[in-house]
Amino acid sequence: MYDICIIGAGVVGSAIAREASKYNLKTIVLEKESDVAEGTSKANSGVLHAGFNVPPNTLKAKFNVEGLDYFPALCDELDVHYANCKKIVVGNTKEDLKYLQKLLEQGKKNNCKGLSLIDEKQIKNIEPKVKGKYAIYSEKTAVVLPYELTIALAENAHKNGVEFLLENEVTSIEKSNNYYTIKTNKNSSIETKIVVNSAGLYSDKIASMTNSSDKKVYPVRGEYLIIDSDEAKNLINTAVYPVPPSDGKGLGIHLTPTINGNILIGPSADFVQEKDDVENTSDVLEILKSEAISLLPELKNTKFIKSYSGNRTKLFSENSGEKFVDYIVEESDKAENFINLIGIESPGLTSAPAIARFVMEDIIAKKHKLKKNTKFDPIRKGIKRGKFLSQNEKNELYKKDKNWGEIICRCEQITKAEILQAINNPLNVKTLNGIKKRTHSMMGRCQGGFCIPKISEILTEEIGMNPDEIRKSRAEGKLYERYEDFIGEEVK
Ligand SMILES: Cc1cc2nc3c(=O)[nH]c(=O)nc-3n(C[C@H](O)[C@H](O)[C@H](O)COP(=O)(O)OP(=O)(O)OC[C@H]3O[C@@H](n4cnc5c(N)ncnc54)[C@H](O)[C@@H]3O)c2cc1C
Repeated sequence: MYDICIIGAGVVGSAIAREASKYNLKTIVLEKESDVAEGTSKANSGVLHAGFNVPPNTLKAKFNVEGLDYFPALCDELDVHYANCKKIVVGNTKEDLKYLQKLLEQGKKNNCKGLSLIDEKQIKNIEPKVKGKYAIYSEKTAVVLPYELTIALAENAHKNGVEFLLENEVTSIEKSNNYYTIKTNKNSSIETKIVVNSAGLYSDKIASMTNSSDKKVYPVRGEYLIIDSDEAKNLINTAVYPVPPSDGKGLGIHLTPTINGNILIGPSADFVQEKDDVENTSDVLEILKSEAISLLPELKNTKFIKSYSGNRTKLFSENSGEKFVDYIVEESDKAENFINLIGIESPGLTSAPAIARFVMEDIIAKKHKLKKNTKFDPIRKGIKRGKFLSQNEKNELYKKDKNWGEIICRCEQITKAEILQAINNPLNVKTLNGIKKRTHSMMGRCQGGFCIPKISEILTEEIGMNPDEIRKSRAEGKLYERYEDFIGEEVK
C-alpha cells in the first residue's frame, strides 16, 4: 500500500515527487514512457517567465511568480543549468505600444519584479540586431533545459525514496473504501491512499477514470526550429518575443537562446485532433522562419538543424470563443484524496515548483497532518558535461579516466565519459533518447548520424545490451526499425 501515487513524470509530477519525499511517505510515480520528461516537458521553450502574460488573481499568476523565485536556489541544489538571459517583448506600432503598457500594468498587479518599458535606442543597446520601436524589458526572465530540470527533480526524489515505475501506462483506477487500485498496461496493480493526477495532455482521461472531473483537454501544437550552436553565436543574448497575438493560444513566435548555445524559433499555435500529433509541417516551418526574420533580419541566411513540436493542454476548444481558462489544481469533490492537475499549460514549467509545494503543503500535508522526513537530502549531482568545464578541469579528468579523451559525438564534442555517466543514470533509463537528454549528444548538426552507431556500440560492449534491445524510447521503437525516424528529416 502506497501513501501517494503520482501519475505522470513530466516536470510537474517530478516536482511533486520531490516535494512528497520531504515527508515520511511511501510514494510511487507511474509513467507510461520509458523515461521522465518524454511529454510536453521535453518540448517547450524552456523559458522561466516573469509572470506578466497571465491575468491577475489566477492560479497561473500565483504559481508563475512564486515558481520563478524558487528557481535559482532549486537549480543550485539540483545541479541544473540556469541562465538569467532576460527578455524583451518587442513592438513596432502605436497599437503595440498600448498593448505593451497593458502587459506592464498586468505585471505590476501580479507582483512581477524587474519590468520596464524601453524605446528603440534602449532595444539597440540590449539587442543590436533586433528590429523594434518599443519593448518591455524583463530582467528576471531566465532559461533552463526543461528535460534536465525534470530528470534532476526525479533523480532527487528517487534518492529520497520515491519509486519510479516507467513504461507503465495507467489503464484503470478503482476506488474501494479508503484506497485506490490503479492498474497499468504492464499488469502492475498499485494500491494507494492518495492519487495525484499530473498526466498532462491525458489528465482529463485519468480524471474520467474516477469521474472526478468532466474537463476536456484540447491539444494545441507548437512547432519549433532549432538553429545550430555555431550559427547561433553572437546573434542574441536575451529571449526576444513579439507582442503576443490576442487569440489566447500562445505568446507568439519568439527567439530563445538555450543553455546549450542554440536558438529556438517558435512555437506556432494550432489546434490539432490528436494529443500525440507532434508532426512538423512545412507550411508552419515557413511561417516560423519569416516571423523570426521580422524580429531578427540577420536570420535570413541562417540554416536550421532540426524541427520539433510540443502540444499545449488547452482547456478550451478552437471555436469556443474563450481565450483564458485557469489551471485546475484541487482535490476533487467527487473523489476523496484524488488530486487533479488539469490544463497545466504555459507557464507550467516556471510554475512547477510552486504547484508542487501547493499540492503537498496546502492540499495533502495539512489534511493528513504529515510528518517531515528529517533525512531529506536536497542535493543531487548531475553528470559532468565537458561543455561546461574549463580545459584544465578536462585535463585533470582525462588524467584519471581516458574516456574523457574519446569523442563520441563529433558535432557537440561529447566524450565517452559523458555517455557512460548518462547510461549509468539513477533512474536506470537505457534508451537513446535518455542518453540524448542527459548529454546533448545526437542534438548537433548531424542529429546522431555519426554518434548513434558509436553509442550503440558502447551500450552493447560496456553494459552488455543486445543490439536488438537498443531503442529510441518506447518499447516498440527499436533502433534498427526506427533509424530513419530518429535522425529526422533534414530541415532546409
Ligand atoms: C510549445 C510549448 C511551449 C512552452 N513553453 C513554455 C515555457 O517557455 N515556459 C513555461 O513555463 N512553460 C512552457 N510550456 C508549458 C510547459 O511545457 C508545460 O506546462 C509543462 O511541461 C507541463 O508539465 P506536465 O508535467 O504537466 O506535463 P507532461 O510533461 O506532458 O507530463 C505528463 C506525463 O504524464 C504521462 N502520462 C500520460 N498519460 C499517462 C498514463 N495513462 N499513465 C502513465 N503516465 C501517463 C506522459 O507520458 C507524460 O510524461 C510550453 C508548452 C508548450 C506545448
